Amino acid sequence: MPYDSHDALPLLPANRAPLAPEFPWPGGNRAAMFLSFDVDAETAWTGKDPNRYDELVCMSYGGFEARVGVRKLLEMLRDLGLRATFFITGWSVEANPAMAEAIVRDGHEIGHHGFHHLMPQPGDPRLIEEVDRGLDTLKRRLGVTPKGYRAPSGESCEELRVLLKQRGLLYSSSWRDDVRPYRHLLADGSPGLVELPVTMTYDDWLYGLSHRYSPRPMMPKEHVLSIWKDELDETRDWGGMVTTVLHPQCSGRPMRLRLLREFLRYTQGYRDVWITTGEDIAAHFAACEAAGSGAP
Ligand SMILES: [Zn+2]
Repeated sequence: MPYDSHDALPLLPANRAPLAPEFPWPGGNRAAMFLSFDVDAETAWTGKDPNRYDELVCMSYGGFEARVGVRKLLEMLRDLGLRATFFITGWSVEANPAMAEAIVRDGHEIGHHGFHHLMPQPGDPRLIEEVDRGLDTLKRRLGVTPKGYRAPSGESCEELRVLLKQRGLLYSSSWRDDVRPYRHLLADGSPGLVELPVTMTYDDWLYGLSHRYSPRPMMPKEHVLSIWKDELDETRDWGGMVTTVLHPQCSGRPMRLRLLREFLRYTQGYRDVWITTGEDIAAHFAACEAAGSGAP
């Protein structure tokens, strides 16, 4: 909706989500980690400008995912005995089917991440096609009907919230407004998807990937570990959840993978942080919700 002046802005949006209800984590756990990866591959670069397709070194940043990054991350997850969620763009699945099939073969969850990695914008006529082509590709190529959706470039709008519900998605992981799961309320007052909120703290892109289109300083392991541990420690004290937003073209690089392995081992050392997929956390939330407050 266009606002022709700041005076037209309502004080509170009608779609504001309610506070997250209290409920226990399962298995006596004190907190949760939603371990998730965003497999953008080349669409990380073409999503914002299709002309980059012909800039072959730029594209090769994304190509690292299929050639090396995903394979090394899958090896690491196998070694640690962890199951994760991989949000994949439809284009990446079409272009790199063996990479996507390897993720499925290892038993990880596949989530929807758009088709061309277009940032959802209100009123964009490509919004529906971006969702439907992504769904079609995951079904046709991988036999997967995804339960979860993560918005490319982390943006959303009311049309998208309604569309995802209509298409049968169960949870979203894009918003930044809580440290616990909650359910969206759509503008018409009806319930929307479960939200598994994200914090930028665990977006590896911020610390470990620099390019002329995305210039950032690279941070050393000790620096990033310090940030990641502090966020986890305090979130655990709060009984909340942390959500990782890890990109194989960043965290699949040798130094970054070493950092991630150390952090995941640190998290496992707690023994009371539930490290799992989005579908598991969303299902637990829905069961608690159906049971009223408390455990299902
Ligand atoms: Zn992405």
